[in-house]
Amino acid sequence: MDSEIARQFDKLQDHFQSDLTRPLAFRREQLGKLKKLITRNHKAIAEALKQDLGKCNQESWMTETGYLIGDIEHHLKHLKKWTKPRRVSTPVIAQPGHSFIQPEPLGTVLVMGAWNYPLQLSLAPLISAIAAGNCAVLKPSELAPNTSTLLAELIPQYLDERAVQVVEGGVEVSTELLKQPWDHVFYTGGERVGKIVMTAAAKHLSPVTLELGGKSPCIVADDCELKVTADRIVWSKWMNAGQTCVAPDYILVERRFAETLTGALTKSLQRFYGKDARQSADYGCIINDNHFYRLVELLKGQNIVHGGQTDADSRYIEPTLVLDPDPSSTLMTEEIFGPILPIITMDSLDDSLTFINRRPKPLALYLYTKNRAFEQQLLNKTSAGSVCINDGMMFMANMKLPFGGVGNSGIGRYHGQWGFDTFSHLKSVMRRGTWFDINWRYPPFNKFKLLM
Ligand code: NAD
Repeated sequence: MDSEIARQFDKLQDHFQSDLTRPLAFRREQLGKLKKLITRNHKAIAEALKQDLGKCNQESWMTETGYLIGDIEHHLKHLKKWTKPRRVSTPVIAQPGHSFIQPEPLGTVLVMGAWNYPLQLSLAPLISAIAAGNCAVLKPSELAPNTSTLLAELIPQYLDERAVQVVEGGVEVSTELLKQPWDHVFYTGGERVGKIVMTAAAKHLSPVTLELGGKSPCIVADDCELKVTADRIVWSKWMNAGQTCVAPDYILVERRFAETLTGALTKSLQRFYGKDARQSADYGCIINDNHFYRLVELLKGQNIVHGGQTDADSRYIEPTLVLDPDPSSTLMTEEIFGPILPIITMDSLDDSLTFINRRPKPLALYLYTKNRAFEQQLLNKTSAGSVCINDGMMFMANMKLPFGGVGNSGIGRYHGQWGFDTFSHLKSVMRRGTWFDINWRYPPFNKFKLLM
């Protein structure tokens, strides 16, 4: 296995060196074919996602296939502009001169996808890697086996195998892949494996992008638009049964407003998924038994104010609200990554900022309020990968915004041009004119030259 992966890597490197992937026409062609892969196979993809995560077709379209088609179109639309030299000014001491930044592909890169949006989180980084002119290996997550197998089957049918390879497998395969001297490693997943990836990459000084997770807080002020707020929280928390890296992990709310908010969340939940979410075709399941039992464990001894039903056979966990869990319980110290939403009551909104700042920097931070002064305070006093005010994960729909974590929630960013730049080296170039030269910088130095 070791030598097979090493051989694959060497071949891709040779193809990169042969300039196969550099021409804009090749990149465009590959992106077009990737789009065809998705549009022609969207039914098979939706089926695989249903089998892996119980995703309904609409959700699969919104967050996986439709999202990726938009992403490819965005790349195709802007590719020419992104690849052009970016002119910058040249200081007086370097005149006559001309300076620019020339994006160039990095080489052969590794993309390690995650299981919760197994298509999107594999293909979105791959789109950027191809657009930037690289050769790539994609390792989809083995925890979403149906999607992984489908990707391994379809990609060779559509993309040039000299440029893109899919390698399936688990920990052993990941370990072997990480032994290669990649020009970039792009990993999406949890913090623990993120550290393993970074350690392995450090051996070759391979740069990394780590798209990790963490506990994303959601502050709700009593002046929020209650029904819209509840609908948007429920949408962003219980989509994909809470298995979303940017889902609100817990709510911070002023004590006097907690009951009102809990009531509104309960109403939204019932409107979205009915009285029994198990019967809803729009509500997903937990990815595997390990994660199911991990989540069941989190609920033990908690003050459940809504939901709490579980079913091991269908890996079903009811949308669940927990009021005021112990801050030192696992529910509040580890990322939940499931359909359980703790509601923490605070004496004041200011206290919520202290609460957030005492914890690792989150991937996303949400605030529901009409109070612009508090919004400014939050932006100035806290740190997070992204902030969204008065909505959930909608910020991800804007390709002009970089997506990535800060501190424990990740390193680097992508989406749109940010992804293109992540998979490019931004090479500095200066071209000097030779028709004019001042000798002040050349030895031998004398007192006149030093004065300059
Ligand atoms: P994980 O981090 O355990 O990743 C599993 C992957 O890592 C598997 O493909 C496995 O083969 C590989 N792996 C596991 N052990 C390894 C080892 N010792 N050596 C090499 N590779 C190894 O997945 P998880 O923790 O279940 O994923 C959930 C996390 O991912 C959450 O924290 C979530 O927030 C995060 N996430 C982040 C984003 C994002 O875009 N920022 C998106 C999705 C998920």
